[in-house]
Amino acid sequence: MLELTDMQVIRALTKRYDFSFSKGLGQNFLIDPEVCPAIAEYGIPAKECGVLEIGTGFGVLTQQLALRSEQVVAVELDRRLKPVLTETLADFSNIRVVWQDIMKVPLQDFLQEQFGTREVAVCANLPYYITSPILMHLLESGAKLQSITVMVQKEAAERLCAEIGTREAGAITAAVRLRGHAEQLFEVPRESFYPSPKVDSAVIRITPYETPLCPENALQQVLKTVKAGFGQRRKTAVNALSAGLSLPKEQVTAALADCGLTANVRFEQLDLETLLRLSRTLFN
Ligand code: SAM
Repeated sequence: MLELTDMQVIRALTKRYDFSFSKGLGQNFLIDPEVCPAIAEYGIPAKECGVLEIGTGFGVLTQQLALRSEQVVAVELDRRLKPVLTETLADFSNIRVVWQDIMKVPLQDFLQEQFGTREVAVCANLPYYITSPILMHLLESGAKLQSITVMVQKEAAERLCAEIGTREAGAITAAVRLRGHAEQLFEVPRESFYPSPKVDSAVIRITPYETPLCPENALQQVLKTVKAGFGQRRKTAVNALSAGLSLPKEQVTAALADCGLTANVRFEQLDLETLLRLSRTLFN
């Protein structure tokens, strides 16, 4: 197995295949020998569990996933990596690379086609320019996922794993938390990547709930409420919600009062349970 955390190997591959790293595609590859095994250990619950990887790069994480799972399917957008991966993944017969934009993959059907009835977990060092869209694509796809273990920018990790009701939380925090439990696993310094990015990173794991918190239509209403509330977070909840949801202030004030909240409360102070209750009151 080619040692893809060795800079001499990386340089040799880069030269052999005339490969240049694309900033636009978020190509910062892992070169710290401890990080990929750790992501794979945290992300793969059992050998029988299949793994969907997003973005192979030279295959440094893909190799570690394939050592711990019977079946790995990796979706990669940059076809220039084809000859590189032919060499770096040559030792593995349990990896399939699909050359596509992950955002254009209809996930539910795709996972069914690739994995059949096998359980599936997602593991990836995400391209940072589309972290949130990819996470929402995964969570909203309707596909059943065991867990989503991904490297993201440190600030994104803090936001994604923040407690709802604290200043660190935002619309994306709530959108994730409505569908699963999010936790930060470990931090990864910028020097662990080549080329080294300007920011540090962290690995997080999202475990989707077995039973949804509420039915899908109620979930959509909470998401609308959250979008309106966090859209203008400097305003009071009354002003933010009445503007964002086009509702009379009196109606919003009454809904807040029903939930035991005063008119000058700020949206970011509301915890998850209150958000669910408030949205029910507002929309019913
Ligand atoms: N897994 C490798 C590693 O850890 O070294 C590479 C990670 S790199 C941060 C992100 C990878 O995602 C790149 O290989 C990039 O080409 C790929 N990528 C970027 N946008 C993508 C998209 N929309 N769909 C699939 N892959 C994408």
